[in-house]
Amino acid sequence: MKKTGTEEFNPYRWYGFDVDGTIATNHKHGWEIEEPVKPMVDLMRRMHRAGCDVRIISGRLGDFRSDDEIPASVKRHIWEWCDRNLGFRPKLTGRKDSMMEALYDDRARQVVCNKGVTYEELAKELAKALELLVEDPGKGKREAETMLEKCRGLGLL
Ligand SMILES: [Mg+2]
Repeated sequence: MKKTGTEEFNPYRWYGFDVDGTIATNHKHGWEIEEPVKPMVDLMRRMHRAGCDVRIISGRLGDFRSDDEIPASVKRHIWEWCDRNLGFRPKLTGRKDSMMEALYDDRARQVVCNKGVTYEELAKELAKALELLVEDPGKGKREAETMLEKCRGLGLL
């Protein structure tokens, strides 16, 4: 594993970053790639500087697996944005494969591996438990204990 600040990355696998809504804002839903989303762009740069294989994976790239298959006009369009906002040209792909370690995407719903529960569901339940803890500490404590058990059962603690 490689470290960039507090994050660890597997140098033998690749990390996919979606474009619209992830590394660039997506208000107009058009062909133009919009403004950079600074935290994601910064993360992508840090990982790249640390030697991690960061790639763009986007619906814009259809079923194309590698840079070689992607039409020049599409590559140029994406890489011009990368030149201005990332300062490097990552590989481009339209597909996941077995060497992809992680996907950063605004539409993905991350699932706890092999458990059938999404982190989004868990975050909402944890937020409700915290809210209850503030409003009614007795009930909130019981709810927090229930959530702790659930998280242990999922292997998260
Ligand atoms: Mg998106």
